[in-house]
Amino acid sequence: MLIVQKYGGTSVGDIERIKNVAKRIVETKRAGNDVVAVVSAMAGETDRLINLAYKLTPDPDLRELDVLISTGEQVSTALVAMAIISLGYKAVSLQNHQIKIVTDSSFTKARIRKIDAYKLNALLDQGIIPVIAGFQGIDEEGNITTLGRGGSDTTAVAIAASLMDYRNDIICEIYTDVDGVYTADPNIVPDAKKLDEISYEEMLELAVSGAKVLQARSVGLAMKYNIPLYVKSSFTDSEGTLITKETQKMIEEVVVRGIASDKNQAKITLLGIPDDPMVIIELFKAIADANIVIDMITQTSSVEGLTDIGFTVSKPDFKKAFEISKDFAKKNGLRNVEGDLNVGKVSVIGIGMVSHAGIASRMFTALARSGIKVQMISTSEIKISCIIKESDVEKAVKVLHEEFKLSETEQRSQRSKIKN
Ligand code: ADP
Ligand code: ASP
Ligand code: MG
Repeated sequence: MLIVQKYGGTSVGDIERIKNVAKRIVETKRAGNDVVAVVSAMAGETDRLINLAYKLTPDPDLRELDVLISTGEQVSTALVAMAIISLGYKAVSLQNHQIKIVTDSSFTKARIRKIDAYKLNALLDQGIIPVIAGFQGIDEEGNITTLGRGGSDTTAVAIAASLMDYRNDIICEIYTDVDGVYTADPNIVPDAKKLDEISYEEMLELAVSGAKVLQARSVGLAMKYNIPLYVKSSFTDSEGTLITKETQKMIEEVVVRGIASDKNQAKITLLGIPDDPMVIIELFKAIADANIVIDMITQTSSVEGLTDIGFTVSKPDFKKAFEISKDFAKKNGLRNVEGDLNVGKVSVIGIGMVSHAGIASRMFTALARSGIKVQMISTSEIKISCIIKESDVEKAVKVLHEEFKLSETEQRSQRSKIKN
């Protein structure tokens, strides 16, 4: 079997941990598998590098920012490769340009276009363990790019997918500081329950909604190529969580699988836009042209030919999106444009929701009972998200986790009720 193992920042956070990671990689190899390691920067390093740039200027050049922040991963690859070699095994560190992880040129949020796995496969055939820098790419012109925060997860899955041309039996293991995917961030809800299994669709929605345990794009890729993804702890030997195709059992088991939250949200509201599709399209085109992703959109019903539109973007994109909105407002003679950085999002996710009514009303009732005001709502077949005040986010996660009885203790008592 070929196992791609990705080790996150805390797992390579110091020399002792790096030795521990090398031991795990070697044990996997010794058990008869081929192993490719993908590593993140040591814990805190990417933040440290970003802070350096922002100390210098409030508006760093993004090409240079990527050159800077990609260095953290290079350090980890060398240290992990050295540690493996010192255990008597063959390993080589590899950076983006050495294995041609080709991306587009969207600095700080580049997307992988292709990876040439020929060289990797040849190394594996020689019994060598490649230790690859996560998070980094290279564009067609040879510029260094990075894949967005948490991007090493995506590197790992993309590497696994690229090796499918050469190998059959491939899995991808993501080693992190928690021992799996939980019903909510265990740092917010200490009583959250670890899931043994979760479907790609649910994991994708959790990740898109802010559960940073996996970068959303890594889940999308794993789903596309049907690569089994395991989230595990590098500090324990516990089973972890398997992310896989949905089963009938998963659909029937629970209605709500988990709660996610995201404080990285900002809201812009434009008041009194002419209710003309061509005008509204012009606004969203200008925002898309600036490479800004919009999350939620709401529109009020038209009064005297005018409507109000609200939308959300990530906090780092707020400044630019607000400027574009203000220009648009001026040009079209709008009443007002409002911006709010003090918002966050809370989401309830589960594939069982497809066949169960009433989840939304339970969600809104529970939030209202706790005095949490919902500002915007969006729904998909398996998710309901609400924009609320940023300072209410943690409380909302706890309230909803309780409302849907997701905790370990609650589920145990539910099971014994069913048995009795
Ligand atoms: P790494 O550095 O290993 O990539 P991350 O910090 O990116 O680790 O992701 C792990 C963190 O994700 C956990 O420490 C936890 O706080 C957070 N997290 C958020 N939601 C969940 C969830 N549903 N299950 C597990 N962890 C979660
Ligand atoms: N080091 C990068 C980050 O902190 C990528 C990663 O860890 O996945 O976002
Ligand atoms: Mg991560």
